[in-house]
Amino acid sequence: MKKLFLMALTASISLGIVISNAQADTWLIIHAGTLLADARKPAKAKQTIVVKNDKIVAVREGYLTKFDLAQNVKIIDLKDQFVMAGMIDSHTHVTGEMEPHSREKSVTTTESEYALIGTVYARRILNAGFTTIRNVGGPREAVFALRNSIRKGQILGPRIVAGGLTLSPLGGHGDANGFRPDVFGKPHSGICNGADDCRRAVRDQIKYGADMIKYVATGGVLSKIATGTGQQFTDAEQAAIVQSAHAMGRKVAAHAHGKGGIDAALRAGVDSIEHGSFLDKGSIKLFKKTGAYLVPTLLAGATVVDIAVNKPGFFIPEVAAKAKQVGPVMAKALYLAYKSGVKIAFGTDSGVSRHGINGRELVLMVKAGMSAKDVLISATVSAADLLDLTRSIGTLEKGKSADIIAASGNPLKDISTLLKPDFVMVRGVIAVE
Ligand SMILES: [Zn+2]
Repeated sequence: MKKLFLMALTASISLGIVISNAQADTWLIIHAGTLLADARKPAKAKQTIVVKNDKIVAVREGYLTKFDLAQNVKIIDLKDQFVMAGMIDSHTHVTGEMEPHSREKSVTTTESEYALIGTVYARRILNAGFTTIRNVGGPREAVFALRNSIRKGQILGPRIVAGGLTLSPLGGHGDANGFRPDVFGKPHSGICNGADDCRRAVRDQIKYGADMIKYVATGGVLSKIATGTGQQFTDAEQAAIVQSAHAMGRKVAAHAHGKGGIDAALRAGVDSIEHGSFLDKGSIKLFKKTGAYLVPTLLAGATVVDIAVNKPGFFIPEVAAKAKQVGPVMAKALYLAYKSGVKIAFGTDSGVSRHGINGRELVLMVKAGMSAKDVLISATVSAADLLDLTRSIGTLEKGKSADIIAASGNPLKDISTLLKPDFVMVRGVIAVE
């Protein structure tokens, strides 16, 4: 009986393979009125992109119409559109959105519920033209499940580079706070104190599936505790986090507002500083020495200031005070860093803002003083570099993933044309048309 069952199973597996082998390749021919294949170079008129399954196989001058292909070819007419690589958001929290009672929700929502709502938010972000996100901290089982299902093609969403639980000192910005003692339970696996314990916390995230490590170098605006926005982990703890993550091939992002924490994180060798609100000329020297990226998250700053000013009672007084203090300086910090030649990677902190309005960060970056061209570089080529994905995303060329978006108008002249893309494709699958 047992043997028979095994044979049947083997037969069904091999049949599955035969079917998938028999599936014809999908060919798509995209006629692009204007094509920005690489944001560092000029756009070109009248170009054709040839897509086979999930990859770009050629980019050609003019509108190709004749093909020597046995399979059916679908032509996508984007002759009146500006076509470019799918954008990359280097700082998201895809499984949640800030709401007045998010603290209470954090103890009543299960990992499964986070994963399910994450599928909805992920799709909103994709539809906004972001074909890749780096999720820097969140309920890890939910985030990893979402990442894996999207990767397998079970759910349509942006490619996810996933951090695990955010590393934080006990009582710090990444720890739970504001509950009655018996509600807290055991601190999560990212909470660590002392260099050895922080190495344990890094390895724990990697063991369970983290692609990168996020830690809090300083206090944060939204933690329900009046601990300010200064340095939280010690220099020795930060060095231990970065060294143990790099030793296992993982990049490290440090959440940092206060200058002391920004500089300590840069000295420790982090790959990116998130927010960077109170950076100064000394910090910039360190950025340039280490080659770290700044991920500005202006949209988060704008969102929390708007709420603190216009929605009384949404935040507790400690949070409202921090929001009013930090929000307004973030654009100035970006401008100072940008003018000094610090590398900038696009990131919104989506989840603080609503998912799907990620493009508003583009507008804020231009308002802060960046050229539209440099903003587009930050959201494609530079973010791909930060995520270690240059081989597959960031530009449209042979061999890269078919992550392609299009909008009417020219974003190099008016970046707001990207707020609502008319066409979005991820890995050869059309999400918006
Ligand atoms: Zn964040």
